[in-house]
Amino acid sequence: MNRASTDPANAPASGPSGDPANATPSGPSGDPAPGPVTDPVRDPWRDVMRIALAEADAALPAGDVPVGAVVLGPDGAVLARAHNEREATGDPTAHAEVLALRRAAVATGEWRLTGCTLVVTLEPCVMCAGALVQSRVERVVFGAPDEKAGAAGSLWDLVRDRRLNHRPEVIQGVLGAECAEQLTAFFRTR
Ligand SMILES: [Zn+2]
Repeated sequence: MNRASTDPANAPASGPSGDPANATPSGPSGDPAPGPVTDPVRDPWRDVMRIALAEADAALPAGDVPVGAVVLGPDGAVLARAHNEREATGDPTAHAEVLALRRAAVATGEWRLTGCTLVVTLEPCVMCAGALVQSRVERVVFGAPDEKAGAAGSLWDLVRDRRLNHRPEVIQGVLGAECAEQLTAFFRTR
């Protein structure tokens, strides 16, 4: 995914302003230590996030923004995976999370995804956050924050709104740098 040639001539104008990875407010110093520090909260989700990252790559041939999602059952088995298919299908709701939730529901034969975990490379938007609440997933795990549209802590915190009767646990920043880089690389080439 790394494109070495970041043409500076393309950068100054208005740039790829849709890039969520560039939206981090604190700049280059904001990234925490990349070293092999163990993180008992995030480390257990790294392997699944790698599946989501690989799934996100599958969005690229159709020109879709690379976002990938995986739904795990209560036992940790992969129930479904999906990538963003807005361009591929012309469907404005074809975000990776919505597609993964639908497929997981088909796999289980039940709309309630009780005990399930959705793992996604980018922080969910308001639509997907709503779908996550509706599906009753137990947990949402995401990689990169989306400062411009995120609804799981960045711009809104819909999934943990106390006025809702179901509030999934949120774990963020799992392989965050890798997830952000995948998006950055995509927007760099546009
Ligand atoms: Zn979404």
